[in-house]
Amino acid sequence: MKQYTWSCHCSAVTYEVGLDLTQPVFECNCSHCQMKGFLLSFAPKSDFKLLSGEKNLSEYRFHKKVISHLFCNICGVQCFWYGEKDGIPTVSINIRTLKDINLLELKKIPVDGKRF
Ligand SMILES: [Zn+2]
Repeated sequence: MKQYTWSCHCSAVTYEVGLDLTQPVFECNCSHCQMKGFLLSFAPKSDFKLLSGEKNLSEYRFHKKVISHLFCNICGVQCFWYGEKDGIPTVSINIRTLKDINLLELKKIPVDGKRF
C-alpha cells in the first residue's frame, strides 16, 4: 500500500488515499462506467482525505441513488464517489485521476456491471 495524492484535471479537487497499485484495478461495463471510461479501485472512507475542492464538488445520483458520484464543477472530472460495501463507508477511486501513472502497466479485472 502506497500513499498517493490525486486530483481532477484542473487541480481544484485534490485528495489523498493509499492504494496498492500492484493489485489489479477494475474495469466495469455498466452504463455509467462505460460512458466515463473508469478504471477503479476501492478504499475504506476512513483512509480517504479530501485536501481541497469541497466547494467544487457537484453530485450525481442515479439508479437506486445510493452512490454519491462527485465531480469537479470546473473541469467536469469525477475523481471518486462515496458508497458502502458490507455496511462500511467506502470510497471508489477513479484510477485515471492519478497523474503520474502509466495505465498500460496496470493489471485490470473486467467487471460485468451491466448485469446489475
Ligand atoms: Zn477540476
